[in-house]
Amino acid sequence: MSLGLYTFSRISMTNIELSATRTAFDVLKEQDKEIAKRSVVARLNGELVDLNTPVKETDTVEAIMPESRDGLEVYRHSSAHLLAAAVLELFPGTRLGIGPALLDDPKGGFFYDFQRDERFTPEDLQKIEKKMKELVKQNLPYRRVTIPKSEALEKFNGMGEDLKCELISDKGSDMVSCYTLGNTFIDFCLGPHLHATGRIKAFKLLSLAGAYWLGDNERPQMQRIYGISFFSQEELDAWLKQREEAERRDHRRLGRELDLFSIQDEYGPGLIFWHPKGGMIRKEIEDFLREQLVRRGYGLVFTPQVAKRDLWRVSGHEENYADSMYAPMEMDNVDFRIRPMNCPFHIGIYKSSQRSYRDLPLRYGEFGTVYRYELAGALHGLLRVRGFTQDDAHLFCTPQNVRQEVRACIDFTRHVYETFGFTKFKVELSVRGEDTSKKYIGSDENWQLAEETLVAALAEENMPYERIEGEAAFYGPKIDFKVVDAIGRLWQLSTIQVDFNLPERFKLEYIGSDNHPHRPIMLHRALLGSVERFFGILIEHFEGKFPFWLSPLQVRVMPITDKQSEYGEKVLKQLIDAGLRVDGDFAGEKIGAKIRNAQLERVSFMLVIGEREAQTGQVAVRERGRGDIGVMSVDEFVTRAKALIKTRALNSDQF
Ligand SMILES: [Zn+2]
Ligand SMILES: [Zn+2]
Repeated sequence: MSLGLYTFSRISMTNIELSATRTAFDVLKEQDKEIAKRSVVARLNGELVDLNTPVKETDTVEAIMPESRDGLEVYRHSSAHLLAAAVLELFPGTRLGIGPALLDDPKGGFFYDFQRDERFTPEDLQKIEKKMKELVKQNLPYRRVTIPKSEALEKFNGMGEDLKCELISDKGSDMVSCYTLGNTFIDFCLGPHLHATGRIKAFKLLSLAGAYWLGDNERPQMQRIYGISFFSQEELDAWLKQREEAERRDHRRLGRELDLFSIQDEYGPGLIFWHPKGGMIRKEIEDFLREQLVRRGYGLVFTPQVAKRDLWRVSGHEENYADSMYAPMEMDNVDFRIRPMNCPFHIGIYKSSQRSYRDLPLRYGEFGTVYRYELAGALHGLLRVRGFTQDDAHLFCTPQNVRQEVRACIDFTRHVYETFGFTKFKVELSVRGEDTSKKYIGSDENWQLAEETLVAALAEENMPYERIEGEAAFYGPKIDFKVVDAIGRLWQLSTIQVDFNLPERFKLEYIGSDNHPHRPIMLHRALLGSVERFFGILIEHFEGKFPFWLSPLQVRVMPITDKQSEYGEKVLKQLIDAGLRVDGDFAGEKIGAKIRNAQLERVSFMLVIGEREAQTGQVAVRERGRGDIGVMSVDEFVTRAKALIKTRALNSDQF
């Protein structure tokens, strides 16, 4: 691509001017040499900038370190520029789309979209990666140049970069910032970037994908190259290993192979069919939670999935949430809508009679099915769907109740995580922060009370947490829980939210000890979040090898030959009567094949019956993944198996 040397003489002139002044890097160096050297970019008066940005005496400068999310984002975005520069050197004439960083995407850490008549091949990726390594060795600077918008348009137009021109027209202000890298690459970009390519230590190109310009399928088709980069080779290796693990555990593939669930085009995207085996696991999950709800003083409620449209006006959903809701439908001249949330229905129960402070707290729990519109492109297996069931609950409290109720919710959450084997998790407290504007509803007094309550409850439960300013819901502060799964990925699961808004909107009341009406405080809490999403996470967490109590098929009886069939049938019946989920493999296959099949189907225990077992009235027990664990009577097996179920054991160590 001929960019015109003319551009470059201008760029270097600008740069000479800049280097004559004191830069953000200089300031950082004066503060701490080591920190300056490791910093990725700087924060100048609150804004992220290149390290070589000139500063004034009065400016405040802060180092942005590689460990921070901002640091990682700049690093990966700079990696995307490096990718594009390599592509332009190898494939002149390729035109550029966009190249953002990705921070939590399993597909990679950055991508760049290209427009080119010929298709990139996997071999091309290798060549591009090699070229990127060369450019890293050359330690090329990321140079910023600011030019008038008209000049930028002319320049990019001259290069045939019509998509860039579109971006400049839409987003550029009077002066437009561009960045160059090497001899052929110039990009319209706000920055900031690393100061030179030598800083990029470990990267890899991952895959090719198709994409449309701006995600619009009527716009030009782009070729997207995904890559990943880290500050060290160790981090990169760990990420690649985790990715491989994640692919092996992909719940969409395991869901199909183990016949757990499906999504069917004829019925609609994002709508989940639970097959018998998945349904059995769901039943066990729900049974566990219902048992806990009852034990913890919740009332189990069931409420409708549609309601009059007016209800959603009172709740504020018509105003703030309509984009995510299914369209209204008319019945008997009244509009109805399918629910995206359960809260107003539990409020309906609260409102059905007069409440006194003596009745509170009132706790209503429901597996509430809701429907929300999600963009088709965002749907993903069980993790992002259009219809799902929340393990939802609402607690109506007096101000005096709230702390104890929040504590109980935290304890409940912890118990649920232990039961499913999530030993590590992160807790975040999201508060209003400095911003006390009208964006947040409710009185300062209430906000302060709610925040103090959550802080106290977390402290009393000895729960370490991270405080996040400015991330509260508009109606109140909240606690979010993120679990770490078996391969170290973080998943947002549970939330406990304080709400002043809905009690106000629905004019909820209780009669206080002073005989006057008061407004209750509402807590929203969901522990699994959505049962569908939780199931997806659980499939990947356990790699489809569910613990015994969740296992859809717990035991398989397998006689070695026909001669043991009769005894086998007897054992089968005994186990069914004991309440275990069991089947038999009485086919004429060799026992080795039977065992292999059972392992593939993730059956927990295999009871092998040979001549000796048939004669002595025993069974030879094999466990999935562990092999032989000995010969025992059927009664003995049942007793041990039931103990695993009763304790909801995660493994069979106690067997
Ligand atoms: Zn950029
Ligand atoms: Zn709610």
